[in-house]
Amino acid sequence: MWLGLDDTDSLSGGCTTLVFHQLLDSLPCGHGEPRLVRLWPFASRRTRGNAALAVEIENYEGIAEWLDEYWNKYILPLKGNISLSEHDSREQFPSDPGMVLFDTQPDPELYWKAVRGEATFIDGGIQWGGHGRIGATAACAWPGNNSTWEGIAWRKGERLVDEGALKIVDGFEGTFLCRDPRTERGLISPRGPCPVMFGVRATTKSVAKKSTQILLEGSSPTTGSRIFQTNQASWDHVSGCSKHTVLRKEMMKGGHIIINDFLLSFREGGPVNLISQFLTEGDEIAVVGMEYERMLHIEAIKVLHSTAKSRPICDCGTRMKSMGQNQGIRCPECKNISSDEWIEVERIPPFEGWVQPDYDSRRHLAGDLSTNPKW
Ligand SMILES: [Zn+2]
Repeated sequence: MWLGLDDTDSLSGGCTTLVFHQLLDSLPCGHGEPRLVRLWPFASRRTRGNAALAVEIENYEGIAEWLDEYWNKYILPLKGNISLSEHDSREQFPSDPGMVLFDTQPDPELYWKAVRGEATFIDGGIQWGGHGRIGATAACAWPGNNSTWEGIAWRKGERLVDEGALKIVDGFEGTFLCRDPRTERGLISPRGPCPVMFGVRATTKSVAKKSTQILLEGSSPTTGSRIFQTNQASWDHVSGCSKHTVLRKEMMKGGHIIINDFLLSFREGGPVNLISQFLTEGDEIAVVGMEYERMLHIEAIKVLHSTAKSRPICDCGTRMKSMGQNQGIRCPECKNISSDEWIEVERIPPFEGWVQPDYDSRRHLAGDLSTNPKW
């Protein structure tokens, strides 16, 4: 059977990962690998980080009644708390928890709908609550064959993780997004009232486990920890990579740039936006991004070809000059004449290869294309 939960986050410290962890601890039956599934970042009522949780559980006589009681006692009371959104300017929605139970795993199509667009309610199984049922169902439906792992621990009081422990874990082969290599700032601990002490990401379960153990030893008291299978860094939210020739470029107020009326580069994209500034008509680029309201929001960009026209250099080493329209060119030094008016010179972009926003501005679903080239 499959059990899913979503939308219990709140400003007062609720966090769906913790609510789910406690539910798993209380379950009267065995269960499989718990999963933390990130969904479409533009969902209109998304919770912080837009993560839903699910797990496969053993068949257990009376589980529906047990869950019903648990729901009423521990989860339903979380309804209506205001959730903390990732961007302060976003409209805040009161949490609307949802829980689902299915006999068999729901169609993977439900996951793909919910990770690449706005999903809606489906019938089937046993369902509790409100809006959260959509994400809860999608988390159950995630096929899970392209996954990473995250070890999460919840704090008792203060949030403090030892710098030395973080350094050890950051050095492990297989951990990622532990710290921003540019600023050295740790990226494993959230800020604000959230009950999470840290979340450490890894490409394998064993590295996630080992890292969690080390961080636990180096942090203030925690109430528990758990390893989750996740779709983070899977790029599941984008449909692929596309290639374009730059035809037009428009600089917007605030520093955003629109390429070819369709590709949107945000000022917050840092290096991505620097590349967009560099681009000029005729350049060839590859981009990865998410389509929203008929614009492709660029999450990764690569300059494939960029050239500029220049006057050729004469044999004597001097740059030649035009003698007037269609009059050919001439060397100002030795008066050599040529009819080849232009040559193409390669322009060197500010960054080589795939370029992405700084680590702390990337989406949970975005992987690192420089270490893990997918396209
Ligand atoms: Zn010359």
